[in-house]
Amino acid sequence: PGPTRAAPRLRPDDVFIAVKTTRKNHGPRLRLLLRTWISRARRQTFIFTDGDDPELQLLGAGGRVVNTNCSALRTRQALCCKMSVEYDKFIESGRKWFCHVDDDNYVNPEGLLHLLSAFSPSQDVYLGRPSLDHPIEATERVPGGGTVTTGKFWFATGGAGFCLSRGLALKMSPWASLGSFMSTAERVRLPDDCTVGYIVEGLLGARLLHSPLFHSHLENLQRLPPEAVLQQVTLSYGGPENPHNVVNVAGGFSLQQDPTRFKSVHCLLYPDTDWCPTQRRG
Ligand code: UDP
Ligand code: MN
Repeated sequence: PGPTRAAPRLRPDDVFIAVKTTRKNHGPRLRLLLRTWISRARRQTFIFTDGDDPELQLLGAGGRVVNTNCSALRTRQALCCKMSVEYDKFIESGRKWFCHVDDDNYVNPEGLLHLLSAFSPSQDVYLGRPSLDHPIEATERVPGGGTVTTGKFWFATGGAGFCLSRGLALKMSPWASLGSFMSTAERVRLPDDCTVGYIVEGLLGARLLHSPLFHSHLENLQRLPPEAVLQQVTLSYGGPENPHNVVNVAGGFSLQQDPTRFKSVHCLLYPDTDWCPTQRRG
């Protein structure tokens, strides 16, 4: 027998990155993502929204925009509807990894690929940052009108992004595919990200792998050491209600020019981008 063949290297196209957005965020949020990280992960990124917008193509979204036809209201049903469409499109894509992010996340595509390449997509992998420091339980409605309490389970906060291996995603299908994600969420009355945790840990008995490389604006982003920012897999920002909750990076843009810090991060990662400040020559 010859030398053992190494596992094939993970390619960018093996990863399916779903960005959840809503019509009114296309201009204020998605535009920035299209100009920054999505421009370096075009073939991996799929945008899930709730309204047609011809301008998205002009902004560089390519053909990878999915109008979920879900409601644009901020309800559990509408958000679970989007997750359910994200899931189905991922299964249909045949790709090895499903990652979900919000439209206020920066994704470091190379960091993500590096992280995922440590795992096998055929094993049960659920990777993300827990939003709480303890597992939760849910009260499940059962036929006949009663309720029972589920066991304790962890979930990855959707606002920091999370990933699922194809192997695990396929096992989730009885509770997630073709709209059943919405009935599962309804049964336990949980938001979309908690429902993913419930299916993975509560129903399938798999485990969330807690990763410190995913970040949401629920944490204090200023506390990330500046030298560690470029190594993270996802970042976020506080937004108008919490404008100071942004990562601490130096660079060519002031806080006024780049309130989210995403342009600054992007130019540190990809200084050859045409709109980045030209580097001083030594
Ligand atoms: N979102 C949505 N429909 C809505 C409101 C929000 O799909 O009606 C999406 C939004 O685009 C984002 C995510 O839900 O990807 C979280 O929204 P946001 O950051 O505004 O709120 P958070 O829960 O983080 O405070
Ligand atoms: Mn948010």
